[in-house]
Amino acid sequence: MEIAKLAVSPDPNRKPFYDGDKGASYKFKCPNCRTKNVIPFEVLLHATWNWKENLDSDVRKEIDLKFGLSPTGKSHEGGWTCINFVDCKSCASKLVSYIGFNEYYNTVYRLTEQGLAQVKT
Ligand SMILES: [Zn+2]
Repeated sequence: MEIAKLAVSPDPNRKPFYDGDKGASYKFKCPNCRTKNVIPFEVLLHATWNWKENLDSDVRKEIDLKFGLSPTGKSHEGGWTCINFVDCKSCASKLVSYIGFNEYYNTVYRLTEQGLAQVKT
């Protein structure tokens, strides 16, 4: 697996797209066809704890390298790293999303877009 040029690059100072106690889905435009795609909040929540499972070490390395992830598991803005693979619902491009997931108080969340790219297979 190879990650193409990043459409969204990590930025420690990026403002969160959500801050509150309900959680929110992540809405983004496909870098290839601009169609709006959605990752539900429940998927983000789950992936924050489980994204490393079932990934080959090569894939892990590529994600670490291209997104510049910290070995501590912390995201760029100080939350936790949340990685999801999504197929664009319109053009079927394989995409990888990186969200900073910060539960900074019990069930209060700050969600920040930190990376988006197409995956070359
Ligand atoms: Zn697309």
